[in-house]
Amino acid sequence: MHRDTEIVHAGFRKNTEAGSFLAGPQFSSTYTTPGQPAEHELTYGRFHNPTWTAWESALGLLEGGHAVAYASGMAAVAAVLGVTVKPGETVVLPADSYYAVRRLASTWLEPMGITIRLAPTRDSAALGALDGAKMVWLETPSNPLLDVCDIRAIADAACAKGVLVVVDNTTATPYLQQPLALGATYVVASDTKAISGHSDVILGHVATADAERAEALRAWRTHHGAIPGPMEVWLAHRSLPTLPVRLTRQCATAGSLAAALAANRTVSAVHYPGLATHPGHAIAKKQMTGFGSLVSFDLGTRERADTFLGALSLVRQATSFGGVHSMAERRARWGSDAVGEGFIRFSVGCEASEDILADVEAGLGRL
Ligand SMILES: *Cc1c(COP(=O)(O)O)cnc(C)c1O
Repeated sequence: MHRDTEIVHAGFRKNTEAGSFLAGPQFSSTYTTPGQPAEHELTYGRFHNPTWTAWESALGLLEGGHAVAYASGMAAVAAVLGVTVKPGETVVLPADSYYAVRRLASTWLEPMGITIRLAPTRDSAALGALDGAKMVWLETPSNPLLDVCDIRAIADAACAKGVLVVVDNTTATPYLQQPLALGATYVVASDTKAISGHSDVILGHVATADAERAEALRAWRTHHGAIPGPMEVWLAHRSLPTLPVRLTRQCATAGSLAAALAANRTVSAVHYPGLATHPGHAIAKKQMTGFGSLVSFDLGTRERADTFLGALSLVRQATSFGGVHSMAERRARWGSDAVGEGFIRFSVGCEASEDILADVEAGLGRL
């Protein structure tokens, strides 16, 4: 069966089962459980929930492994780090990885004696220098610079040295890139972005091919309490069948937008792995089935970026990405990424491509 068809039905009831297509969200903190807890399938809401189970089976199909759902992408990130690294060990982290992951490392891991070694995503040699490391963390395409690294090559080197490989797959999504098949030990993602795709929930997950590692991730969730709400999980699951159509359209428009920006003399740099001129294009082509919904570009100064953003009539000024509504922001306003004052991260939505391009052209025309 085509993968898109599998995704449309993933975790939904079969056509032979009566009832709603997708089971409704189950709201229960506790369950009636006389006698011994072991005699019952369901006991307490922090341990398990059938709404999570359906969602995790769908995510497991997407990732090709066992998935564990969390309350947010950062809860998922913290869980992977929590079940793997200990004081005295070293983690190799991309210098351009999502800022909250770097903050988590510097605020919580370093003070407890875990060494953090930073290397840029575009420098595979530095990222892949794994001597003495317990884990290498990858984020490809990286957010917001959209640099790319070779997951298979780094995973092969890591495997030979017994180093764990984690891929933050948020920008790509498992629809476009499957890190477990490329050799990663864990894949982590914020489902707040394209997987849920409607800018209405905060969620995350971790997946791994190893059942024991998945069990440890579940135990971490139970003990730390980073559990997702059933309503959020149900909303995300309800949105999952459209992932293939959403992303196919978003990738197509993002490709057109990147080409239009690259051809516009007002724009000083365009970052999109789908552009033949992107330094990681060959690697992206090898390990991704589409280049994603994010396009980043530089307008040179804060004033020009603000003028451009202020001139947009369709695209919203907002952080986050992957949703059906196009959004853009001047990334330097957060002070957390090594980008210029005029750097824009643009998330291409599902509107008609001609309308998105016309809005951007009109915005650029004001510069
Ligand atoms: C958004 C994001 C996260 C964090 O996810 P939340 O759902 O906001 O907690 C982690 N990694 C990347 C690459 C992200 O874009």
